[in-house]
Amino acid sequence: MPGSGNSALYPIRKLDKVQITDIISSMNYTRDNMAGLLRSHDINPTHQRIEIAYALFSRHEHVSADQVMAIVNTRHSETSKATVYNTLKLFLEKGLVREIIVDPTKVFFDPNPSPHHHYYEVDSGRLYDIDADVQISGLPPLPSGMTATGIDLIVRVRRKR
Ligand SMILES: [Zn+2]
Repeated sequence: MPGSGNSALYPIRKLDKVQITDIISSMNYTRDNMAGLLRSHDINPTHQRIEIAYALFSRHEHVSADQVMAIVNTRHSETSKATVYNTLKLFLEKGLVREIIVDPTKVFFDPNPSPHHHYYEVDSGRLYDIDADVQISGLPPLPSGMTATGIDLIVRVRRKR
């Protein structure tokens, strides 16, 4: 292990909680199973939290907080920005979603709990999953006394000119 410097030292951040993958792989999203999903992560399923979870999980996309707010408010115009932000923060803390920080002004929330990396299209601002097994090699040994909690790879792409 010392100095081996391979990707095993850098496990991809994993969000595993019991039923989450079942619910996600079923791709059958209802507000009822959103409540179950929230409960399985120790989140009290209030009406607004269910709506916000539904906005995140019902589309297989990476969405920003502003997009979540826009989606939720097509049905419930009373949801405030503060509520959306606080709820997303809670979802993050409870491991329900991942946060993908492309840059400080572009933060996406990712409902896909499996370990994976991303492409980011700089022209369009679109973020999407890399559907391939990514091998990362040549990383340095960890600083002494440290353990890795994850590694996030964003490959930034643009159209060839
Ligand atoms: Zn993703």
